[in-house]
Amino acid sequence: MPPSRTLRTQVGIVGAGPAGLLLSHLLHLEGIESIVIETQTRAHIEERVRAGVLEHGTVDLLNATGLGDRMRREGLVHHGIELRFNGRGHRIDFHALTGRGITVYAQHEVIKDLVAVRTSAGGQILFEVAEVRIEDFDTTAPRIRFQHDGEDCLIACDYIAGCDGFRGVCRPAVPAGALRCYEKVYPFGWLGILAEAPPASDELIYANHERGFALMSMRTPQITRLYLQCHPDEDLSLWPDDRIWDELQRRFATTDGFRLNEGPIFQKGVTAMRSFVTEPMQYGRLYLAGDAAHIVPPTGAKGLNLAAADVFVLSNALAHAFRTGSEARLARYSEICLRRVWRAQHFSWWMTSLLHRFEDASGFDHRRQLAELDQVTSSCAAATTLAENYTGLPFTLPGEYS
Ligand SMILES: Cc1cc2nc3c(=O)[nH]c(=O)nc-3n(C[C@H](O)[C@H](O)[C@H](O)COP(=O)(O)OP(=O)(O)OC[C@H]3O[C@@H](n4cnc5c(N)ncnc54)[C@H](O)[C@@H]3O)c2cc1C
Repeated sequence: MPPSRTLRTQVGIVGAGPAGLLLSHLLHLEGIESIVIETQTRAHIEERVRAGVLEHGTVDLLNATGLGDRMRREGLVHHGIELRFNGRGHRIDFHALTGRGITVYAQHEVIKDLVAVRTSAGGQILFEVAEVRIEDFDTTAPRIRFQHDGEDCLIACDYIAGCDGFRGVCRPAVPAGALRCYEKVYPFGWLGILAEAPPASDELIYANHERGFALMSMRTPQITRLYLQCHPDEDLSLWPDDRIWDELQRRFATTDGFRLNEGPIFQKGVTAMRSFVTEPMQYGRLYLAGDAAHIVPPTGAKGLNLAAADVFVLSNALAHAFRTGSEARLARYSEICLRRVWRAQHFSWWMTSLLHRFEDASGFDHRRQLAELDQVTSSCAAATTLAENYTGLPFTLPGEYS
């Protein structure tokens, strides 16, 4: 069936998450046209509650590319985190150890800033598309087919960026056997809430407790974000607000009487925990970025930051290809990204293993975790390793690219 509407662009981008929208913005700054297609509505993606910790390098990239105004005004700059175990808190001072910090600024606020900047620059984002299929990406004339406003549409482009998240259509469209996937599924999830209550601490608190892991984060000085380790398929109806607060207070309790501030809970959800990597992150003229290519458990706060790092590399390689006709940089896209991805995988797995309660864990395993936490909070070398990884590796390109 011929499409009723055909569009032409240089880069067709599937998915308006952080990866797809930031890629579109970075390409625009390089003078390259793109069209982004998204299955959800604009309101949905601008309200979807997900990550909230921006690494130093992500913040620098957003600032350098004109996306930092609201983040600088409303984001909360943190210079450390607390690790809490055995009823006591221990601060890891990122700034003293690395000279760097992190910024707490919700992912959906980054999305609002990206949609606003793309829209004001005349960028095309097509929301509420359906039946998305990618074709001919093993040729020099890839195409994306989809339905929009009741019409069969086609985007003819030079390259496709698969930024459609873990459950998107791009990665599964690659012929069987061309990609190798590495996966680890964890036997627990996180029950996350947003509550109208001022955070009880200025910095994030990661708690290792015999009843399970808990994390206190924040979105604003009035809104606390809290997580509890739970079963991956936890039934939320079994968790009335009182039970959630009771469990959180127990896991954060300290010998000196710490209490979380409680308030109305206005959002609840369960997130499963998985580590996943696709190698390579490319097939023909299809380039996968962000969650479409890799997933990390959220303990290390790396998912959104990896998506930003991928498209930083991809936008540079695409710009080079359009400018010079050489695909040499695109050919190294996977190799460059995967080095960082595996470092983040290791860190996220390590933080997860250090802080969570495993069902089959013995008393020995728990004592070993506590010994490791003792080391991380008392050895400068161990604390520096955590701080370097948490605040993030620099966003750099190979020296020969400059
Ligand atoms: C439920 C959930 C909760 C999370 N919570 C946290 C957290 O608390 N802390 C943390 O650090 N990280 C968290 N993460 C991870 C972090 O949010 C992700 O790593 C980040 O969103 C990755 O960005 P992305 O652009 O690659 O993918 P996504 O943000 O998933 O964006 C992909 C986009 O593609 C769209 N899409 C999907 N299929 C199609 C299609 N066929 N056609 C067109 N568009 C399509 C989707 O609607 C979506 O807008 C969470 C992730 C999820 C899924």
